[in-house]
Amino acid sequence: MRNMFKSLVLLAILATTLALPAQNIETVKARYDNYKVYRVIPTTKEQIKKLYEIEESGVGISFWRDPTHAGRPADILVPPHLIPQAHNVMNSLGLEYEIIIQDVQKLIDEVHPKTRQASGGMDWNDYHRLDEIYAWLDDLAAQNPDRVSIVIGGSTYEGRDIKGVKYTAGGQNKPIIFMDAGIHAREWISPAVQTYILNQVINSQDPSLRELVDAFDWYFFPVINPDGYEYSHESDRMWRKTRGPGNLFCKGTDANRNWGFQWSSAGASDNPCSETYHGSGPFSETETKTLSDFISTMGNDLVMYISLHSFSQLILFPYGYTDEHLPDYDNMLTVGNRAADALATRYGTQFVCGNIVETLYVASGSNLDWVKGNFNTPLTYVFELRDQGNYGFILPPDQIIPSGEEMVDAMMSLLKDAKTYRRI
Ligand SMILES: [Zn+2]
Repeated sequence: MRNMFKSLVLLAILATTLALPAQNIETVKARYDNYKVYRVIPTTKEQIKKLYEIEESGVGISFWRDPTHAGRPADILVPPHLIPQAHNVMNSLGLEYEIIIQDVQKLIDEVHPKTRQASGGMDWNDYHRLDEIYAWLDDLAAQNPDRVSIVIGGSTYEGRDIKGVKYTAGGQNKPIIFMDAGIHAREWISPAVQTYILNQVINSQDPSLRELVDAFDWYFFPVINPDGYEYSHESDRMWRKTRGPGNLFCKGTDANRNWGFQWSSAGASDNPCSETYHGSGPFSETETKTLSDFISTMGNDLVMYISLHSFSQLILFPYGYTDEHLPDYDNMLTVGNRAADALATRYGTQFVCGNIVETLYVASGSNLDWVKGNFNTPLTYVFELRDQGNYGFILPPDQIIPSGEEMVDAMMSLLKDAKTYRRI
């Protein structure tokens, strides 16, 4: 009995000592001192293949912008200890390069001088924490009870809600527009621009905007990967995935490779340490499972689904899993190009429109493919917002308002086209 007691005490001490370092480690913030972002323009398929091999090997080199097509720039994040090897590899592949960000940590510190604490109050002069965004959604619903209601679209691995709002100006059977943002945690401009659009949808007095906006019912979900978003504020500015279990060393799943349509067919990784890890099965993640269930309740009534990402200034439409064109390819391209023209009018910002495979890369398990594949939603687009790599994911907050303004211009163009569709 006494021995057993002793063993229990020892076990308890051991458990405490083992647990302590883990807790301390969690509070250490990832740093990117002397990490550099290189820009290369591959000219051959062989160079592209080699670059992917290096990234997939897991040595620690990752893409900010994938090497997708010959002649298109790719941006590559290189940690300081791998810089000599990276130079050797690029030289041996015959790749010319330039360094577009000299020190990623320095840029982070300049753009975000301190970790923002949730303090309440909403504006578009800075990026906001999840609690601030959610509190603002609550305020919108409280101040506009006849038009705005809170909707919970799902939940997360760590137990947070995926909170959004429904907006309606009243009336029956209006076609539905669904907007999501923040599926990739580090793409902070995407929740910021979505809340900017939402604010215009609710508060703008512009009669032409009101007429277009009020012809639809809307769902807005500004942060559909809340665990990852908070982690990117608290612990690792460059975090992209969810915070799901992964394996012993690597947590998280790419929530935009986990949807149950052509899951894992191409352009997604089965390695939990990869940035594009597709999860252990279709809808293995709490976020994608619960949100897809919610979207299914209205799927057939959607006329438009818009997903906001960053960066590289693209307007993309399905499919991502195959290069085969959908029957409505020409229409999606025409409507998307009109939106790009509208977007460019205010500040001259150029967005390129095309289908996912031709314009970006093969990617299966995205929410856009799932929506299109299941409900054949007429207008389904991903917007890859500003910029084209000068700041990349670390876009300064003074670009939130201009990004929001030009995106509202693009939305107005899309709404004119969406009006030609009725609920099925
Ligand atoms: Zn993204």
